[in-house]
Amino acid sequence: MSSTLESHFETAVAALEAIPTDAAIYSAATDASLLRLTDFMGRLQRALGADSALISGEVARRSTADLGHTGLAQSSGFRTPEELIRSATGGTARDAGQAVRVGRLAHGDEQRPWLAPVGAAVTDEHLPLSAAESIGLGLGLPTSSVPADVLAAAAQQLCDEARTLDADHLLRRARDLRNELDLAGVPLREEERRAQRSLRFYRRPDGLSRLTWEMDPETAAQVGELYDRATSPRRGGPRFDSPDASRIADDPRTTEQLASDVFLQLLRAGSDADSSQLLGSGAPSVRVLTTGGHGYIEGQHDPVSAETVDRLRCSGTTTDIIIRDGQPINVGREQRLYTHRQRIALAARDGGCRWPGCDRPPSWTEAHHIDHWARDNGKTDVENGILLCRHHHLLLHNRHWQITRDGPDYLLVPPPDVDPLQRPRPMPSSSQVMRELVPA
Ligand SMILES: [Zn+2]
Ligand SMILES: [Zn+2]
Repeated sequence: MSSTLESHFETAVAALEAIPTDAAIYSAATDASLLRLTDFMGRLQRALGADSALISGEVARRSTADLGHTGLAQSSGFRTPEELIRSATGGTARDAGQAVRVGRLAHGDEQRPWLAPVGAAVTDEHLPLSAAESIGLGLGLPTSSVPADVLAAAAQQLCDEARTLDADHLLRRARDLRNELDLAGVPLREEERRAQRSLRFYRRPDGLSRLTWEMDPETAAQVGELYDRATSPRRGGPRFDSPDASRIADDPRTTEQLASDVFLQLLRAGSDADSSQLLGSGAPSVRVLTTGGHGYIEGQHDPVSAETVDRLRCSGTTTDIIIRDGQPINVGREQRLYTHRQRIALAARDGGCRWPGCDRPPSWTEAHHIDHWARDNGKTDVENGILLCRHHHLLLHNRHWQITRDGPDYLLVPPPDVDPLQRPRPMPSSSQVMRELVPA
């Protein structure tokens, strides 16, 4: 078998070496002929690329780290397969690395199964090695929302497009495609993270107890802000420029003990709070950065969906910042926030979450603007506001329910996938006073 391969290469090398290399002959060629020669050149290079990949990939397969110095490269006096290939070709480390990486794909790389279409395109269609690299690099690694099979389909699509694209354009195209896949996965990934939130309390046999809290990014942004507030002067060491900071620095408690005490106080204050009062404006707000469409919660790495951006803007926990020429030029006031007096009025009118069947008191609710602030430039008037618990506020925005007002009555309109006829549902107030004042 190997002798057959060798004789193929022997014939090819002899044929290539027989091609004249007298510059005068090339100078004498017609334009049409020279263009046909560039075509031949491309075919030769692509065919040679496929062969180099198969050879380099096999050398790498026989030189894996677990084989140690019994591997092919080391037993031949080279540290790595790349060095063996570089020595054989007299090329750069970069070229040798490329030949080995693409060669692994040509042999069916188990580490990167989503690039199997690329390996096949190299061997079957002589996809250039640089194009194969562009696809792998641009597509990146699979994640929970862009799993390996989705990446494999994208890799196949890029191999098809590679027939008319060079490696540079292919890299850009692959990056764009990856970004599109990621954006399509934003709401899904957000939902997955939210679904994983959990808080567990363990009582240990040694008399201590342990709390484990897995937080989705939005929860983490709010809890993180409280944590930072409780412990901040200690971060980066004590500062002596304010009496308050030195007082905290004099505190004999460790940062962990201090955080424990502060969180207990917060919980006690929360449980003592009057449930007819809305959450105070001292509650930590999350800041969302967006240029339209999806956005980012400040301090959190992953994007959030357009629905989440809408909901956070709706509850007045965002601040609009206009950016022009890369500079923030105008920081809007948080006008969407209902004032303390307006919240008292909303609490008196709604008595808690107005979602049909929900019994959450006002202290558990957020004020939803029935006219979307962003979309309709809604006013922060009491009649435009309605109280929803966090769960129902989330549901409303994410599943695209709508609320309309008909005089004093509010109606909940389901999205078409819940009710194709979109029949409005009444949203009775749970405030006893309002029921007596406005009989149904
Ligand atoms: Zn809302
Ligand atoms: Zn509710």
